Amino acid sequence: MSKSILVTGGAGFIGSHMVRMLDQRGFDVVVYDNLERGNADAVTAGKLVEGDLHDSERLDAVFREHDIQAVMHFAALAYVGESVHEPALYYRNNVSGTQSLLDSMRLNKVNKLVFSSTCATYGEPAILPITEDTPQNPINPYGQSKLMVEQILKDYAQAYGLRSIALRYFNAAGCADDGSIGERHDPETHLLPLILFEALRVQAGGDPAETNLMVFGSDFDTRDGTCIRDYIHVNDLCSAHIAAFERMQKTPDSGAEQFNLGVNRGYTVLEVIDACRQVTGVDFRYNTVARRAGDPPELVADASLAMSRLDWTPVHADIKDSIQHAWQWFSAHPPTA
Ligand code: UDP
Repeated sequence: MSKSILVTGGAGFIGSHMVRMLDQRGFDVVVYDNLERGNADAVTAGKLVEGDLHDSERLDAVFREHDIQAVMHFAALAYVGESVHEPALYYRNNVSGTQSLLDSMRLNKVNKLVFSSTCATYGEPAILPITEDTPQNPINPYGQSKLMVEQILKDYAQAYGLRSIALRYFNAAGCADDGSIGERHDPETHLLPLILFEALRVQAGGDPAETNLMVFGSDFDTRDGTCIRDYIHVNDLCSAHIAAFERMQKTPDSGAEQFNLGVNRGYTVLEVIDACRQVTGVDFRYNTVARRAGDPPELVADASLAMSRLDWTPVHADIKDSIQHAWQWFSAHPPTA
């Protein structure tokens, strides 16, 4: 039996791209997903096991039945706004669900984990760009839940020798370049898909003046008054996970590490809109509205540590690649509502 990678949340946006890349690179993959928010048809390779992180019996069975050499742990809830209104859901899924996974890994002697963390653990950083040493002060339960897991991973490294790498994602964007899989969130709250939905609406003959696109705030202390984010192509996130796995193989005793994943470059909301107009060729409009609660003005990574330690380079540093791939996907799979 060849050794497999277990991908939790492999039916979700980033997880499904991870499964595809692992398969392309010759890994055997087992996906574990409760399909509450993921889509079974996004799993294009490997074996899909439907199960919840809290179902220890099912998790144990997966570890017993497959020769798992490492876990890539994506399964989590990831809506900032929802986390504020339903913190219980977030701590239960993201923290206690992860603990259930870790305990099953211990029982079954699986000792390597790549964890999906987030720049939301930094809150509103005082100094930019953000390095791994920037103080972590999350401002919502989502970011807090991810930070708590990072702490658990450090403690498990100390006590049980768990080898882990937490990857703090900045803004994931784009999708597979062949249009095979893409982004499907319900509800969709992310900037890039919402811009492209508006471009699709106008392209289909909708009145540009009746725009659905809202820019949240124009009075931030940034170059054009709108928020700045570091957008990283989902395939660059995924290649960093493989690099993290290889690093854990080479340095099994290095405990818990953390790396930022971004492209070291920020775009304002208006710059993203402009890039989308150029890529799509559609002249859509937007309305400027009030700030969205909890949006930090600027989040830009210093990802140089990941680049050097993981020997990893994002190949889609230009946001237009992400837009082009997402446009291809959404054009073929327009929103239904
Ligand atoms: N944003 C916006 N309109 C939208 C959705 C998002 O202006 O309909 C802004 C949001 O305020 C933030 C940026 O776009 O500054 C990226 O938001 P997104 O939700 O995509 O990611 P986040 O940075 O919140 O994780």
